[in-house]
Amino acid sequence: MSRLLQLLPALPKARRWVRWTLADHVSVAQSLSTRRFSRLPKLYPHELLDRVKIVVVQKVPRPPVEQWGLGAADQFLFVDPAGITLLDTIFLQCGSETNESLVFHELVHVVQWRTLGVNRFLGLYGLLLQQHGYFDNPLEVMARGFETRLEGAGPPHGVLPAIRRMTEELLAETSKASLVNRMAFALLPALRFGRLETSPGG
Ligand SMILES: [Zn+2]
Repeated sequence: MSRLLQLLPALPKARRWVRWTLADHVSVAQSLSTRRFSRLPKLYPHELLDRVKIVVVQKVPRPPVEQWGLGAADQFLFVDPAGITLLDTIFLQCGSETNESLVFHELVHVVQWRTLGVNRFLGLYGLLLQQHGYFDNPLEVMARGFETRLEGAGPPHGVLPAIRRMTEELLAETSKASLVNRMAFALLPALRFGRLETSPGG
């Protein structure tokens, strides 16, 4: 059976975890635009930075992937990340909240979530996690690649359209890998398990 079909039963669980995690922290979430970063406002539109929220936590929430039947992605279980992005909310470990390149990395994930939509992001991330592990997951490689560009050769230009284009290309490439993938990724946006897109508490 296709790996993507095997992941489908985990989708409602993952969505529920995202919804609960966001609802748990909604009272302490702050707009990213209240943070004083020097380079981010030059790279991302203001309306995006206004909508993105930052939550600073002692311990970054870790998706309980083993409970979702994704135990094979074992590398992920041992990662103690400094940040994670759920939809438009970036969780940062206390002490990392001024790390601009980390926030830049997480913003790449925000754009990936927005480009793909909730179900396709979760489906694509889960599938690529199974295939490549955490570190080599192409969605992570993309985020690290942009992060390196920020650190290295100065601000990249047109970063937002570039992330969108690369995300769409990755989706197209993964869809093309099999007929099942093509059908699943076409159908995923229509599956609804709760009002995650419009309300964290919904
Ligand atoms: Zn990442």
